[in-house]
Amino acid sequence: MSIRKIALVGNPNVGKSTVFNALTGMKQHTGNWSGKTVGIAKGVLKRKNSKIELIDLPGTYSLITDSAEEEVTRNYLCFEDFDAAVVVCDGCCLERNLILALQVAQLVPRVLICVNMMDDVRKKGIDISFSELSEITGLPAVGISASTGEGLSELEKAMEKLVFDEKEPEFLSIRYPKSIEKAVEHLLTVFKERYKIKGVYPVLGFLEDEQGIISEFINRFGEMGEELKTALEREKSALSGTDIREKIAASTVFRAEEICLSSVKFNKSRVSGRDDKIDSVLTGKIVGIPVMFILFGFIFWLTVSGANYPSELLSKAFFEVGLRLESLLRMLEIGDRMRSFMVDGVWKVLGWVVSVMLPPMAIFFPLFTILEDVGYLPRVAFNLDRGFKSSGACGKQALTMCMGIGCTAVGVTGARIIDSPRERMIAVLTSSFMPCNGRLPAIVAIITMFFADSAVLGAAMMTVVLAFCVLMTLFVSKILSKTVLKGETTGFTIELPPYRIPKIGKIIVRSVFDRTLRILGRAVLVAVPAGALIWLCSNFIIGGRTVLEIIAAVLEPVGKMLGMDGEILCGFILSLPANEIALPIMTMAYTGGELMEMGSLAETAEIFYSNGFTKITALCTGMFFLFHWPCATSIITIYKETKSFKWTALSVFVPLITGCGLCFLINVLGKMFL
Ligand code: GDP
Repeated sequence: MSIRKIALVGNPNVGKSTVFNALTGMKQHTGNWSGKTVGIAKGVLKRKNSKIELIDLPGTYSLITDSAEEEVTRNYLCFEDFDAAVVVCDGCCLERNLILALQVAQLVPRVLICVNMMDDVRKKGIDISFSELSEITGLPAVGISASTGEGLSELEKAMEKLVFDEKEPEFLSIRYPKSIEKAVEHLLTVFKERYKIKGVYPVLGFLEDEQGIISEFINRFGEMGEELKTALEREKSALSGTDIREKIAASTVFRAEEICLSSVKFNKSRVSGRDDKIDSVLTGKIVGIPVMFILFGFIFWLTVSGANYPSELLSKAFFEVGLRLESLLRMLEIGDRMRSFMVDGVWKVLGWVVSVMLPPMAIFFPLFTILEDVGYLPRVAFNLDRGFKSSGACGKQALTMCMGIGCTAVGVTGARIIDSPRERMIAVLTSSFMPCNGRLPAIVAIITMFFADSAVLGAAMMTVVLAFCVLMTLFVSKILSKTVLKGETTGFTIELPPYRIPKIGKIIVRSVFDRTLRILGRAVLVAVPAGALIWLCSNFIIGGRTVLEIIAAVLEPVGKMLGMDGEILCGFILSLPANEIALPIMTMAYTGGELMEMGSLAETAEIFYSNGFTKITALCTGMFFLFHWPCATSIITIYKETKSFKWTALSVFVPLITGCGLCFLINVLGKMFL
């Protein structure tokens, strides 16, 4: 069976991942905002007699780029070996999307234009003539709606034809000013003969002195040969004084305009201003931010009020099964200690983690995913842009912050959407300031146990917590940009995508599988050995005291200074692999290895109170939950992204110092005034 490789390219947020998932049956993350696909994903499209490997490249607006994320795509297209490219376009703004399609077609000889979002196109009263589009560009073009499945089989057929066509493929050519065309032609001969590079874009990059492309070239081919150096010098001096980048961009834009003029017609009477009306509220100068907090408050209310009952049910179920497990082990004549190890250690911690974490996550994440799919997250970035700019950071950081609510490691990788390395580093260093999956349920639990006796109050407090996290992110970003990460703030454009009606079924599947179960799975994986370890620590006796007591006693003075105690700090330290297990460890540290009624927050609160907990201790514990250190997975991700011990260490110390400072302050002030 023949195998061919097709690269999937497109502007951000055109539905590329949806197309990729639909064709390959894989599950890439989709959502309604730019910059989600940051790595390269691969999948296979199986046809009757052939196999096509699809390579999903990160979304990019242009091949002429300085951004790290877009470079991945540009370098792949310029230097890798593949057979064809499909450029996915958003039919609602075809002209802008065609710019990329035209650039790709000068680099790759076999290109297919795939116009997505045809359902929206029709709603907006836009008519696209595919025969005209195909004729004028000389490229095959197909209209689809990836989310409804419309046109997918035509797309598959067209892709197969594209790669298996016997005809010798041709590059598209665009008219540039004569002097540039000449220079390109001369240089291209060297590139073709010496390096087997046939497309125009690497040549343009060299002419423009684009460092990204030159260093990638040197990476792959070693030093530039003498012949290339001389040719480059000659052509550059012939072009001196010409703004090559500007001229090339203008020619491409002009060509895209021409194509659209003849193939796209607008029927104005059918176009509605719905999005503008919604935006006047959601991104309004005065109401935008309050509405944002009301929206999050509502989501928290649903989470807090909905989580209690299922939590109790789960807890009871685990308790019942625990009893059965115990009698089964007794029947099998397993010894007392081993039985206690398995039931009181492993099983109970597992039950605790599942019953406390699963319900809030299963409610919060589908709701959060709806916001993502509707297209609200970029509006959050838009609303917070001014705040970030005045903190010397980038407005796009609001998006990485939102990703951090899901998982700090995702927020860290997501920071690639920020172009300036300085601003990207600020986003990485403050990435753990947003409560991740592991910490969010713990904070909900602390609020429910110690502060709020109703769901409304609980939700209001959670919203205040979220606002506080945003403020601290801004504040610490400002400090960083005035100290270790000094520099100018760069501008950015954030695209506000059209509002889309979310597909509820897909959202549930995605938030349950992508987020809830994956994260729960990780928590369970950690909870089992952690339960075992904690049981051992609380049953292993040295000099009349358990190991857990000894560790807690050592940590006690520091804990006390920070308004907590040794047991609580012990919980934080031992939960480095995953924050989810911090609360059960703390409970076990207090009870000497016993985790009473699993997941029952009222009983857990009793245990905490009977161990000297006050409102101040609870506040400090909550604060330390918000700011301490990223979990082990996140730390590893930060190292992978920054490739530097110094920055990784700083990303641990920044939240740690923040948390210690705040807890110390609360402790001192609390003692003075209460
Ligand atoms: P990517 O950034 O290009 O990978 O885009 P995604 O695949 O994540 O899709 C962006 C948004 O567009 C998501 O909200 C999708 O549900 C939505 N979407 C994708 N395809 C279509 C389509 O054909 N029609 C409509 N109306 N929405 C779509």
